[in-house]
Amino acid sequence: MHEHSLIANLLSKIEAVAQQERAEQVVGVRVWLGALSHISAEHFREHFVAGCRGSVADGAWLEVEHSDDSDHPQAQDILLRGIEVR
Ligand SMILES: [Zn+2]
Repeated sequence: MHEHSLIANLLSKIEAVAQQERAEQVVGVRVWLGALSHISAEHFREHFVAGCRGSVADGAWLEVEHSDDSDHPQAQDILLRGIEVR
């Protein structure tokens, strides 16, 4: 899995939602990591922090839910569960 494109993809979703809600800033992000997404919560967090630098989500808290259900239909995916804006 290529983490840079993964984070860029997630960030564009975050920016779209933030724009929709006319937010100044994204203060929090919740994501769900599928069991087969091949990335640990800690590793994801590192990429997230680096990837968000200078963006609308710079400094946002991150809540990661790591699924262990490999039969889940989206087990290979990383899902944006929600954001908190200001
Ligand atoms: Zn990496």
